[in-house]
Amino acid sequence: MRLVLLGPPGAGKGTQARMLEHKYGIPQVASGDLLRAAVRDRTSVGAEARRYMDRGALVPDELVLRLIEERLSRTDAQTGFILDGFPRTIRQAEALDGALTRRSERIKLVLAIMLSDDEIVKRISGRRTCKNCGAMFHTIFDPPRNFNLCNHCNGELYQREDDAEDTVRMRLEVYASETGPVLEYYERAGRLARIDGTGRAEEVQSRIVAAIERAGVAA
Ligand code: AMP
Repeated sequence: MRLVLLGPPGAGKGTQARMLEHKYGIPQVASGDLLRAAVRDRTSVGAEARRYMDRGALVPDELVLRLIEERLSRTDAQTGFILDGFPRTIRQAEALDGALTRRSERIKLVLAIMLSDDEIVKRISGRRTCKNCGAMFHTIFDPPRNFNLCNHCNGELYQREDDAEDTVRMRLEVYASETGPVLEYYERAGRLARIDGTGRAEEVQSRIVAAIERAGVAA
């Protein structure tokens, strides 16, 4: 099963993708995680990407496409995957469709988590990420058992630099202008399901699973 999961920053994409990874046994491929790993590893792609990420702008398509293509060519992604936060531009969507068509594959369903800007700002300010394994927590909605430590690996939790309020506003604008058309692109192709992103993570997960079942793509 090949899925795309989109949504504004802070809508809970990462949490949902991890739950789906677990439920369906297909890997989560998050362009944001691949980019952050490149920055951490100080690769040339990482050095260039960082200049955009720090101010909440999109990283140029060529760089992101290079990372995604490399990731999707690995063994574990051959029978399915959940793309998280990719494609974010029409050019990325077209490149993805082209690459999959060459492999006689296709994105079956695109899930777009919908949430208001006010709710997003509220959620993002409390968001914390594990330095070690990337797991996400929230100071109010999903607090770690031990203050500032990851439940899974005991790694230290931190607030992403691009979660600062100004940068979040910029990322919301970019989402509306660049990724809005991507939603329309998939809607025209009859492959889009809009998911209400309000409520607890488990509630959103049930809506996603229901949409997957309705679309009949779970096999
Ligand atoms: P995310 O973790 O998905 O919120 O992404 C964090 C940042 O990484 C974004 O604000 C962008 O700067 C960059 N990024 C992630 N995915 C993409 C993508 N598909 N295209 C361009 N930039 C991206």
